[in-house]
Amino acid sequence: GAGGHGHATSQARIELPGVRHIIAVASGKGGVGKSTTAVNLALGLTALGLKVALFDADIYGPSIPRMLGVASVKPVANGKKVMPVTNHGLSMMSIGFMIAEDDPIIWRGPMVMGALEQLLRDVDWGTQDVMVVDMPPGTGDTQLTMCQRVALSGAVIVSTPQDIALLDAKRGLAMFRRVDVPVLGLIENMSYHLCTNCGHREDVFSHGGARRTAQELGVPFLGELPLDIRIRSGSDEGMPITLSDPEGDHALAYKAIARAV
Ligand code: ADP
Repeated sequence: GAGGHGHATSQARIELPGVRHIIAVASGKGGVGKSTTAVNLALGLTALGLKVALFDADIYGPSIPRMLGVASVKPVANGKKVMPVTNHGLSMMSIGFMIAEDDPIIWRGPMVMGALEQLLRDVDWGTQDVMVVDMPPGTGDTQLTMCQRVALSGAVIVSTPQDIALLDAKRGLAMFRRVDVPVLGLIENMSYHLCTNCGHREDVFSHGGARRTAQELGVPFLGELPLDIRIRSGSDEGMPITLSDPEGDHALAYKAIARAV
């Protein structure tokens, strides 16, 4: 465009006056456990006594409704606004509530931006201490839009210990730095695996890479979560591990991360 930007991201800020802090949960690539982390971090924050909203910005792969056991719930209108869906003490919004689970989302960028904006603006969020945003993977248009148009307090980056995942995580970190969003730290997911039968430990995706990367780049290392079947099944069943085993090691790890951010 004539302004030199000509980009969908050079628009007005999206104001969320009732929300005090907005924390993005990001990853360099898909499948590393970003949504799982966003969900358990949000629940960890509620365990600290905070009022927490969870916003699913992963428009092409919305997993929040299923992970929180509200996949079949439809949001209800309240005047001109829509009420967030609530469960487990969280106020949530996701494109997943608006479309069938097996419907392909075949939108181009501008439609995605429009949907994101509507989902943020037209929801009656009420007052919230924190909004956790489950970002899409990578460093594309949506991520830039969220960074530039929403007043993010900071971002946490989830990675597996693998070099390839860490490379992408570094790219994500560089993006946040470029747009002046503070990086609150790195989380290593699928950090190791303990055999449920014998307790033998295997570093399936290697180990310690995220801690090393955090040190290298001068950001906090927030914690590590193992590859554990209970983390997966909790997400699939809509009862995340932070709730199903609140005093277990994993829940405590997520709560420690919640305190650290
Ligand atoms: P992303 O948001 O990065 O695409 P998800 O959170 O959707 O990743 O996780 C991808 C899959 O891996 C899901 O089935 C999820 O339940 C599973 N998963 C995530 N973290 C773990 C973990 N620490 N242990 C076992 N399974 C996990």
